[in-house]
Amino acid sequence: MSRIGMKNPVVEMDGDEMTRVLWKLIKDELLLPFVDLKTEYYDLGLTHRDETDDKVTVDAANAIKRLKVGVKCATITPNKQRVEEYNLKEMWKSPNGTIRAILDGTVFRAPITVNCIKPVVKTWKKPITVARHAYGDVYKATEYRVTGPGKAELVFTGKDGHETRQTVFDFEGAGVLQGQYNRDDSILSFARSAMTYALSTKQDLWFSAKDTISKQYDQTFKLLFQEVYENEFKDKFEKAGITYFYTLIDDAVARVIRSEGGFIWACKNYDGDVMSDMISTAFGSLAMMTSVLVSPDGNYEYEAAHGTVTRHFYRYRAGEKTSTNPIATIFAWTGALRKRGELDATQDLIAFADRLEKACLDTIEDGIMTKDLAGLSEIPVRQIADSEAFIKAIRERLEQTA
Ligand code: NAP
Ligand code: MG
Repeated sequence: MSRIGMKNPVVEMDGDEMTRVLWKLIKDELLLPFVDLKTEYYDLGLTHRDETDDKVTVDAANAIKRLKVGVKCATITPNKQRVEEYNLKEMWKSPNGTIRAILDGTVFRAPITVNCIKPVVKTWKKPITVARHAYGDVYKATEYRVTGPGKAELVFTGKDGHETRQTVFDFEGAGVLQGQYNRDDSILSFARSAMTYALSTKQDLWFSAKDTISKQYDQTFKLLFQEVYENEFKDKFEKAGITYFYTLIDDAVARVIRSEGGFIWACKNYDGDVMSDMISTAFGSLAMMTSVLVSPDGNYEYEAAHGTVTRHFYRYRAGEKTSTNPIATIFAWTGALRKRGELDATQDLIAFADRLEKACLDTIEDGIMTKDLAGLSEIPVRQIADSEAFIKAIRERLEQTA
């Protein structure tokens, strides 16, 4: 059988623990036999990050800027315990944070849906993607515990020394106080990423905030989104037959619950943090959630939303078979290969990504699934498969469509 060709490579970022084990299995069983895989390989496994003083992460991010498409395995973000476990030179930063800082992007999380696992919300028929602005607001706030009476003021000192001063509150007793900020350039790139992604997936875009209450802060978000839309995206959206609209966060929440799904919901940082967990849980399982980082200038980095599944890895290392779900990691690959195919106009590669995704879903619909899904399935489970058996079952179905 001749393998499908690729014109340009994707950036491949290997990772840690159980997902690193799955990574190799997925390549050996589901990719290499079918595709003449072209990748630029970066080993982001913790040991190699430590050996290169984390330079490998920076190199990988720069490679994504050059090649436009990357696929990443889950990686350990070291804490104190990991520094000891891996005997690290330093407590290296989160690779995702490093990559995001270089690409300046927005993260989109979307559930992978199967018929036999029903969302908690009965009306949902298509996935809902949450786009979270991952910069500023309460995550970078300065806050105080006010211990007694006193006046809280907001003071801004311009570069020219000019001072603007406003009373926040006259405290008569104890309380709390917080200062938040965001930047126009960050909000603008959030808007561009969200609109670029909506176009690339041909889905409507919703954006929600609370501008009726926050008349400067949230109002700025609303106006900058509107400006980017009018000036840069309106024509393209109309051509693609998709819409953009802004609504209040409370209205958005009500509409989301009543909706059929099938759109992108752009959220401010805190809203996105909370809502993405609610949406993913309501759709089923963390192991069925993909994540893609889209930069405002159109670079794409695909990964699974879950981590390295440490608990399973320790069991695997002790010689046990584990039933770890590889679906989100497989979909990271299909997302990257499909995007590569779109950018290079290689129809075969796009078709392969579609086939592989279908083979995954068919396997589950046939009642063969990993343990995490078996508990949620509304159809009889024929086989609770370990990761390897599950991937082999997917391969069988993939071969049937070759
Ligand atoms: P996790 O790896 O997402 O796993 C948490 C639990 O969720 C697992 O113990 C497992 O539950 C379940 N789970 C997650 N993915 C699964 C899958 N594919 N199949 C079956 N079950 C799955 O989160 P964590 O244990 O908090 O973090 C582990 C490491 O991952 C940490 O070092 C963290 O830094 C890193 N991390 C990386 C990323 C990333 O690279 N994007 C994201 C998050 C965390 P049961 O044990 O109950 O089966
Ligand atoms: Mg959260």
